[in-house]
Amino acid sequence: EITTRLVGSEMCIRDSVIAGNWKMNKTNAEAVEMLTELKGLVKDVEGVKIVIGAPFTALSDAVKAVEGSNVEIAAENVYPKSSGAYTGEVSPTMLKAIGVKYVILGHSERREYFKESNEFINEKVKAVLAAGMTPILCVGEKLEDREAGRTAEVNETQVREGLKDITAEEAKNIIIAYEPVWAIGTGKTATPEMAQETHKEIREVLKSMFGTVADEMVIQYGGSMKPENAAELLAQADIDGGLIGGASLEAASFAKIVLAAK
Ligand code: PEP
Repeated sequence: EITTRLVGSEMCIRDSVIAGNWKMNKTNAEAVEMLTELKGLVKDVEGVKIVIGAPFTALSDAVKAVEGSNVEIAAENVYPKSSGAYTGEVSPTMLKAIGVKYVILGHSERREYFKESNEFINEKVKAVLAAGMTPILCVGEKLEDREAGRTAEVNETQVREGLKDITAEEAKNIIIAYEPVWAIGTGKTATPEMAQETHKEIREVLKSMFGTVADEMVIQYGGSMKPENAAELLAQADIDGGLIGGASLEAASFAKIVLAAK
């Protein structure tokens, strides 16, 4: 369902989606404790989708902990087959069955440490959609790309190849997270203007692929977003939410970012 929100002085047809990415952090007990606190802090928030990405081991308890609230749960990865001889992997069917709603895909840590290619990420996007969940596709340039003037080109390639063979109808249910790699976990944030420029370029790529559906697609910013800089970033016309690592580990700081998106 599409709601409208005010961005600056313009009405915007996109939802705001604030998602946490816990990465390889939190035991089940820690996950449930944080989510219980978060639920209370954001219970009156409307017009913002609130998502927490948790490690596989905590997902089942996390889904139960947020039941009946306005917080939803994401997985941080998936294998693009529904079942079979893939020792150690987890399928979209398994995630869907326990109530996971979103899956973070193509995070720069997975691209770098696990050598995930755009082609493999594209398979995952399709598998997640086929299982009825929402992919959050992460894209972003490295520092050397930005310094060499290749930011637009790198993001375009990751978007086009990550979303290869996706229809406009399917694209409505896909979230893009623009995460400049140099800003992840470094404390360096893109300036709101710099982020807006790249978000706009990404939306142009989406327009060329999906036409007017691109105006409905959520593009989150990620990279050292925190309570102190969230409002300014989220006020940009093409920034429709955030993907938050470090500041999502504590309920109080994550809730402040959610409130900044209202
Ligand atoms: C992330 O890992 O998606 C992220 C944006 O991390 P951080 O907020 O810690 O920079």
